[in-house]
Amino acid sequence: MPLYEFKCKDCGKEYEELVPLKSDNVPPCPACKSGSVQRKMSVCGAMGSSGSSSCGKSGFT
Ligand SMILES: [Zn+2]
Repeated sequence: MPLYEFKCKDCGKEYEELVPLKSDNVPPCPACKSGSVQRKMSVCGAMGSSGSSSCGKSGFT
């Protein structure tokens, strides 16, 4: 399951959640329970563009 980064538009809180691939739902902000959150790119293993090499440290595979 991909790990996505979210940012709350209301309070600015940034957090990460595991979300099913086909799901368009976004988990509500854990801080203020707002549903107005913006989904950012996956932290790790999105497309293997620059920066993906830093993902191997924790032995994710
Ligand atoms: Zn919030």
